[in-house]
Amino acid sequence: MHIEKRVLVTGGAGFLGSHLCERLLKDGAQVLCVDNFYTGAHRNVDHLRDNPRFELMRHDICFPLYVEVDEIYNLACPASPIHYQRDPVQTTKTSVVGAINMLGLAKRVKAKILQASTSEVYGDPEVHPQTESYWGNVNPIGVRSCYDEGKRCAETLFFDYRRQHNLRIKVARIFNTFGPRMHPNDGRVVSNFIMQALRRQPITIYGDGSQTRSFCYVDDLIEGLVTLMASDDSVSGPVNLGNPAEFSMNDLAKEVLALTGSSAGTRKLPLPSDDPRQRQPDLAKARGLGWEPKTSLHDGLKRTIDYFQGLDIPEDVMPPKA
Ligand code: NAD
Ligand code: UDP
Repeated sequence: MHIEKRVLVTGGAGFLGSHLCERLLKDGAQVLCVDNFYTGAHRNVDHLRDNPRFELMRHDICFPLYVEVDEIYNLACPASPIHYQRDPVQTTKTSVVGAINMLGLAKRVKAKILQASTSEVYGDPEVHPQTESYWGNVNPIGVRSCYDEGKRCAETLFFDYRRQHNLRIKVARIFNTFGPRMHPNDGRVVSNFIMQALRRQPITIYGDGSQTRSFCYVDDLIEGLVTLMASDDSVSGPVNLGNPAEFSMNDLAKEVLALTGSSAGTRKLPLPSDDPRQRQPDLAKARGLGWEPKTSLHDGLKRTIDYFQGLDIPEDVMPPKA
């Protein structure tokens, strides 16, 4: 008899989580999606609910969870700066206490467990592009620290559970990812720029717009997560996942204005504190696993713009007013 793999996705009703659930179902797995709906939404997974292999559970991972699974993808955590800074203590709890609970679960049921870590562990990097061996330049007491240090501590826990309890762990350091189902009001640069351009409002560029990011399209990222989970047990990471094509925020604004046909232009606003100057993944390790991002910023933006255009967006999920 064929036994389906049972996979837990925490944060499964969020942007990345919902795409991951969809992909795992396509691959034939049984998927348990756990989410407390802090930033996630039912609409992200509604289309999966008729699938008998999909189960949705409202649960906060800061509390223990008793389920039987073979693999765990730990994605639960608000990811955009305005969301994770809204309740910073809860953000650290989700990253640290949540990781302990999910690692404890993995230990009890002998599951393989993958952590959605972040390029933010590199802080404002002095090494460019960022290799996994770089230890980072993170402010431990700033407004981004709840997220950056929470994720760094989660990585420590993952590696200590491997050393102390022999757990099969995988740590992915995810760089800025975008695509359909991003929250239209999450304040992240891609969603802000697209929403503003579609509303024919000027695009808000923080600082002088010369800071850079590397943007990965969601389908590529999900392929990277699945590839890392399937890698040999000797591979724990951390492994950078992202797209190495680097753009300044000025470049990104130009591309969004061109693709949406908006003539509203841009306006400059102050740079938020601790905003990293540059970010670009070194992908040597990920390429060693046979993974490579394929989607250009241009193509990914077109698909994301189509998604936002199709949304019926009430006023209360408008981009934040500057
Ligand atoms: P998201 O905010 O859309 O999704 C996070 C999900 O976690 C939401 O559904 C939210 O409700 C849920 N959640 C939050 N706290 C929880 C808790 N205590 N218990 C249960 N569920 C909880 O964000 P995303 O962009 O999909 O990010 C997913 C993961 O990937 C996060 O861990 C994030 O740190 C990481 N990541 C994302 C990016 C990116 O660019 N999207 C970059 C680096 C890392
Ligand atoms: N940013 C911007 N305008 C916006 C939102 C963000 O210029 O309306 C900038 C922000 O200052 C940062 C970059 O875009 O330099 C990426 O910001 P985001 O919040 O998307 O992600 P992160 O800073 O976590 O990489």
